[in-house]
Order: sequence, then C-alpha cells, then structure tokens
Amino acid sequence: VVVVDDLHKSFGQLQVLRGINTRVRRGEVVCVIGPSGSGKSTLLRCVNMLERPTSGRITVHSEEVTDPDCDIDEVRRGVGMVFQSFNLFPHLTAMENCTIAQKSVLKRSDAEARRIAQLNLEKVGLGERGDSHPAKLSGGQQQRVAIARALSMDPGLMLFDEPTSALDPELVGDVLSVMRRLASEGMTMMVVTHEMAFARDVADRVLFMDGGVVVEEGPPSEVIGDPKHERTRTFLQRVL
Ligand code: ATP
Ligand code: MG
Repeated sequence: VVVVDDLHKSFGQLQVLRGINTRVRRGEVVCVIGPSGSGKSTLLRCVNMLERPTSGRITVHSEEVTDPDCDIDEVRRGVGMVFQSFNLFPHLTAMENCTIAQKSVLKRSDAEARRIAQLNLEKVGLGERGDSHPAKLSGGQQQRVAIARALSMDPGLMLFDEPTSALDPELVGDVLSVMRRLASEGMTMMVVTHEMAFARDVADRVLFMDGGVVVEEGPPSEVIGDPKHERTRTFLQRVL
C-alpha cells in the first residue's frame, strides 16, 4: 500500500529525514516509535504530501505521490489521517463532522453520508452522540469522532500521529481499543505512538527512528522485546 524509497526531507539546513526506506503491505499495522524530533511526524506527513520530500520516492496505492503530475487530492481521498489534536469543526455536530467531506468530496447524498457516518460513529462507540458538538464531548470522544470521520471516507490506509498523547490518561484506553479493533478488522495502518504496549500487541512491524533514519525495524518481539541496537535499548529504557 505504501512504498518509501530513499526519502530525504530537510527544513532549510536541518536534515530531518536522511534516507528512509520502508513499505507497508495491505492489512499491515506498522508502528513508528522514537525520540522527540527523530522525524516520525515528518515521515507520516510526507506519505500524504502534507510535507514535500526533498528527494526520494513515495508510492501510495500504486500512485507515485512524489511525481509532480500526481493528483494528490485523488490519493488523499483513500488515506485517513488522525492527528494528536482532533481538528474537528467546532460549529458542526459529530454527525456533520463525519458527513461534510463525504458529501463535498465523494459526492454522496446527505442520506447516504448520514447512514455511513452513523455506522462509523457506532463503530467507535458513539452511536448516540451524533447530535453533540465537539465542545460537549471529552477529548477521547472527540478523537473517536475524528476516527469515525476518517473511516467514513472508506480509506484504504489510516495514518495516526500520536492519537492519544493529548488525552487524559483515563481516556486513552477507549481510543486505543477502537484502533485495536480496526487493526483486527484488517485496516492498513501506520501509527506513530508512544504507547509501547499498543505497539507490542498490535503492530505487525515496528520502526524505531532516531536522527532521521530507521535504526531498527522488525516484529515487536524483536524491536521492543529484544532490541539489537544500543540506541533502541536506551530509548526503550526511558519510555518503558
Ligand atoms: P515528536 O515525538 O516530538 O512529535 P517527531 O519525531 O514527530 O517528534 P518531527 O515533528 O518529524 O519529529 O520533527 C523532526 C524535526 O524537524 C524537529 O527538529 C522539528 O523541529 C523539525 N521540523 C518539523 N517540521 C518542521 C517545519 N515545518 N519547519 C521546520 N522544522 C520542522
Ligand atoms: Mg511528532
């Protein structure tokens, strides 16, 4: 679903990504871990071209998004993104947040969009809260609406950038269990996370990034359970 080939990204003099190679296969859950500033968000943002790579190639759903002729809006339609901050429209209800792009981008009728939104709100445990505005919902509920909104676009790939790190600890579990369920249903996911238990249980593969490179990559039993590199060990000692 995603192929990243020798990806470099600099902001001015600062080299943030220095040759990333990886791929995400259909149905795979890849968790990206690593210290602050290692380039995890930048990698994820390059995948749907929220950042333009300095060099290298990225293919998403067989489209080369780094090709200047690529219709990036078309590719983004198939990619759901959930950020640390929920980015819901505050003046719209949960239901309206989930239908607006379905109607404007996918040209679904209001009835069809509402039907699909309702299914996805139920899936994240908020089937009764469609009429609520974001301000009336907890952070964890808002984040689950953001997930339902992304799912309503029928994405073939979901990108999550620290979806639980802005939440109060007691709200983290509900969001993670929604993500676990998505993973078990076969959704292809790239997840930047500090939740090592989630990465260990759910990831098919873990990437440990440091200094703009992938230091270590493999199944969680290896990268988290039995890391080969000193940098990975030092990082895990700090977070576990
Ligand atoms: P965190 O765990 O704190 O979210 P991260 O691994 O996601 O860190 P990035 O957000 O990818 O790290 O940032 C990597 C580096 O790139 C940081 O030094 C950051 O300051 C820098 N950076 C990110 N975005 C920009 C930007 N738009 N302009 C300039 N520098 C940036
Ligand atoms: Mg980040």
